[in-house]
Amino acid sequence: MTRSGQEYLEALRDGREIWLDGERVKDVTTHPGFRSSAASFARLLDLAAEPALRPVLLRGGVHRAYAVPRSYEDLVARRRAYKVWAEASYGFLGRTPDHMASGAAGFAARPGVFTGAGFDGAEQALAFHRRLAEGGLHCAFTLTNPAEEAVRVVAERDDGIVVCGAKTVGTGAVFADEILVGTIEPLAPDAVEQALTFSVPVDTPGLKLISRTSYEQHARSVFDQPLSSRFDENDALLVCEDVFVPWERVLTYRDPATTAAIWWETPAYLNFTHQSATRFWTKLEFLTGLAVLITRSNGTERLPAVAQALGRLLGMVAQAKAFVLAAEASWEEVDGGRGGVRPGQEISFAQRIMAGELYPRAVQDIRLLAGGALVQLPASGRDLLHPEVGPLLRRYAGTPEDTAEERIKLLKLAWDALGSEFAGRHEQYERLYQGAPHVYLTMQTRAGAADDCESLARACLDGYDLGTVR
Ligand SMILES: Cc1cc2nc3c(=O)[nH]c(=O)nc-3n(C[C@H](O)[C@H](O)[C@H](O)COP(=O)(O)OP(=O)(O)OC[C@H]3O[C@@H](n4cnc5c(N)ncnc54)[C@H](O)[C@@H]3O)c2cc1C
Repeated sequence: MTRSGQEYLEALRDGREIWLDGERVKDVTTHPGFRSSAASFARLLDLAAEPALRPVLLRGGVHRAYAVPRSYEDLVARRRAYKVWAEASYGFLGRTPDHMASGAAGFAARPGVFTGAGFDGAEQALAFHRRLAEGGLHCAFTLTNPAEEAVRVVAERDDGIVVCGAKTVGTGAVFADEILVGTIEPLAPDAVEQALTFSVPVDTPGLKLISRTSYEQHARSVFDQPLSSRFDENDALLVCEDVFVPWERVLTYRDPATTAAIWWETPAYLNFTHQSATRFWTKLEFLTGLAVLITRSNGTERLPAVAQALGRLLGMVAQAKAFVLAAEASWEEVDGGRGGVRPGQEISFAQRIMAGELYPRAVQDIRLLAGGALVQLPASGRDLLHPEVGPLLRRYAGTPEDTAEERIKLLKLAWDALGSEFAGRHEQYERLYQGAPHVYLTMQTRAGAADDCESLARACLDGYDLGTVR
């Protein structure tokens, strides 16, 4: 069942071991490096209390993302729920709880995939999904291996296993209830110690999260950095030092093939993409909205070249939207319909290519449209309030369209979205969180309609020869 924001925040006060800037963080809900973003996650949960949003977000008291979609209509209803949460952070919180919820629903749609050669994790996969859905839990995941010392099993006991090692870039992990640890890319057949998947509470003894810098902590105020001060989901290195994992939480074990297959042979990954493509579309809508406001403020919106640049951005928004709608419309049955439906694979996989290439282009285009004003901003909103400097700014920093305060407010938001360190992290995120290009481009050669393309070209070639007369 869904929880209130307050219940979620209370659950985060569990003694979890988070490290930031040489300090052990006692409580992520009050620490200046995390508290505002924790509050943003909590607010998402509270949206379900709003009568107009409740039926969009929930079915039977549970967020729609936890349910296994059974029809095209279910996919559309899920997307409408994803969109509400995506809009609440303007697309800047990538790992809202609906992300892993959708992945867990993918596991539950096809639990037989968890039955490996030497270990059967099907029951554990179903229990994982049930636990998340019944508790309305927020689960992060770490699937990326560091160059050395990836998480591996070091001891086996009657009641479970002991693991050591690390995983990288745990986005949102410090704000999660649980972390799913696994591997999404193929492992060498002999890498059995690393070939495992499990999910444990973040406060499990021996589990540490070493956080990257907190943009939230370095933000001067909401006015100065409206996004990084509130939507910094953070990314952390996961370190396991003799972490005990009971068998009931082990989903795959000592099995390289099954450990990768659970992502690709269940709809888990495609469900992820459906959620993240909806968020991406929302983020592009937001950035394009900024471009419209900036060009209006600059008085350039009607210049033909600027209007064309806005047209290109609106075309990008339409592309991002089209990928979501087309993935739904090309739905496919899972396991002959026994596992419900999934968004179409060919289009979902292609969304990764489009998004990774479009995002940096959109950011660059909007920065160009904004011009030098994006940089020429007072250090903080305090200057506007200062008795000496404030009147000067009000006199010189406005435009015929906007007062100085309106313009500085808009451009500070734009810089946070497009040029700040937070913005740089977002560009890295959109380019890589779905995997590196050499991986997903190669996958598209299999998922794409190469045969159809080839036979069309072949049909043309076969339609004439040396003797063909016009
Ligand atoms: C902001 C952000 C958040 C993320 N969040 C998560 C998360 O929550 N959970 C999670 O599990 N992962 C997360 N990731 C990790 C992400 O999935 C990986 O970064 C991505 O899969 C690439 O893997 P890597 O970083 O290990 O790249 P590497 O394998 O180190 O490769 C780095 C680069 O080298 C080049 N390269 C490497 N090998 C080849 C090759 N064979 N051929 C051609 N070029 C090559 C590519 O340019 C590649 O981008 C996140 C990443 C970012 C940036």
